[in-house]
Amino acid sequence: MITVLFSARPELWDDYRDLLTEALAAEGLDARLTRESDPAEVDYIVFAPNGPVTDLAPYVNTKLVMGLWAGVEQIVDNETLTQPLARMVDPALTQGMVEWVTGHTMRHHLDLDAHVKGQDGVWRNMDYPPLAQDRPVTILGLGELGTACGQALAGLGFPVTGWSRSQKSVEGIRCLSGEDGLVAALTQAQIVILLLPQTPQTENTLDADALALLAPGAFVINPGRGPLIDDAGLLAALDSGQVAAATLDVFREEPLPADDPYWAHPKVTVTPHIASTTRAKTASTVVAQNIARVEAGKTALHLVDRRAGY
Ligand code: NAP
Repeated sequence: MITVLFSARPELWDDYRDLLTEALAAEGLDARLTRESDPAEVDYIVFAPNGPVTDLAPYVNTKLVMGLWAGVEQIVDNETLTQPLARMVDPALTQGMVEWVTGHTMRHHLDLDAHVKGQDGVWRNMDYPPLAQDRPVTILGLGELGTACGQALAGLGFPVTGWSRSQKSVEGIRCLSGEDGLVAALTQAQIVILLLPQTPQTENTLDADALALLAPGAFVINPGRGPLIDDAGLLAALDSGQVAAATLDVFREEPLPADDPYWAHPKVTVTPHIASTTRAKTASTVVAQNIARVEAGKTALHLVDRRAGY
């Protein structure tokens, strides 16, 4: 029998206990799912950074730490982590992100706010909505989430450019990489969506110089991580009109302090890190399948490259 330790916020235990037990059984695994165990007896840890386990050193026989989060910046530098670490790639999390990104892209593209907020009795019937084909969109990060969002937006007719560390080839998306690729990806983009991981290399990717490359009046949508954006640079670009509006889901400090200028800025929409989340039903299947792979002597899926930081 294998022991699977669940280390996440206590509220999640109710969501996962039955679903994960069923998923482990469905993979044919004889498993004990528990929230407490002698560390030396733990074979697998289902892990969230805000759970009780922070020191992984005693887990000397653990074969895999299976993260419940897509982002790993809070665990990747943990010096007690010597076990392989897999991050969460959950089809429902991806679907949620596609819906959130598509919704906010369409909102800015169609200027829905003008009508939602502009119910003033004046009949302005000369301004028709633009077409997606005339609105270049750039997605920074072409991984699980960036690729899915890019394909959805391309399907709606937007000309989509994606940028990643290694060169990609994705149908319907103009794929760019490297420093030169970043300049080309941002130049004249009208909507920029950030879906990069938080690493030392990605910090301030969208700084004042990068923002200056965008088409005047561009929109910024950040469901990635707060440090991807130089906040002072974005606020200046909003004030100058270089950026028309920003929708921000993630911040350097979370919860975003009540006196942060983003809350009060008329061109900024703050959402409280809700763009998407791991869903217990699908994630339980992902966790069980990954454990089954390791039990069968295969390499786990979605392993984190700790040197790259994601
Ligand atoms: P992923 O599959 O690891 O994709 C990351 C992408 O970023 C890859 O295309 C990668 O390039 C690229 N990248 C990494 N470092 C780079 C660099 N220095 N220069 C250029 N490109 C770089 O991650 P994912 O599953 O799509 O998730 C992306 C991020 O979304 C997560 O890290 C997390 O921070 C965020 N997220 C937010 C929420 C929310 O609710 N707001 C929910 C889930 C996830 P390669 O393809 O070459 O490796």
